[in-house]
This record gives sequence, structure tokens and C-alpha cells, in this order.
Amino acid sequence: MKPEFGNPKHIAMIKKKGTGKCWADIVGRYPGMEHCKDCKFCQGWVHHDKTYYKCEKHPVTNGPGTDIRLKDHACILFEKDVK
Ligand code: SF4
Repeated sequence: MKPEFGNPKHIAMIKKKGTGKCWADIVGRYPGMEHCKDCKFCQGWVHHDKTYYKCEKHPVTNGPGTDIRLKDHACILFEKDVK
């Protein structure tokens, strides 16, 4: 089945290729000025003395191809993290 652009059920099927693009460029941008650092799906993985950020809503591997940056523009799956 071919993923339908913008359909949240299909977004998890999409694989991020390369390390240069943020998820917002692949699945669509959140209409506000939010960033991944403010999203409840942004998780920090500590490995040795470094923290790598991954998204709980998208496929994750142990490699850099699925890393996200805190300053990345929020994607359409953004949900505000209320702490
Ligand atoms: S779901 Fe949240 S943390 Fe994941 S890419 Fe979208 S905005 Fe960033």
C-alpha cells in the first residue's frame, strides 16, 4: 500500500532517508512556529556522555538517520508537551 500524504495512520510507514531532512520536510509541517523540543513525542536517549533525540511517532533505529534536532520545525503530528 502506498502511504497517503498527511494521513497519520500511514506516516509510521514512511522511512526517513539520509540525515539532512527533518520530519516536517517529509510528512508535512505543523502550521504554527513550534519546534520538536516542545513536542511530547521528542525523547532524549542518553548513550555514554551524549544525548541523541528521537521521535516516538516515527520509525526509530540506533543510527543517526532517525535522529531529530530540538530546533527542527514541528511536523504535522506535533502535540504540545505540557509539563
Ligand atoms: S511528532 Fe513531534 S517530535 Fe516527532 S517529528 Fe513531529 S514535532 Fe518532532
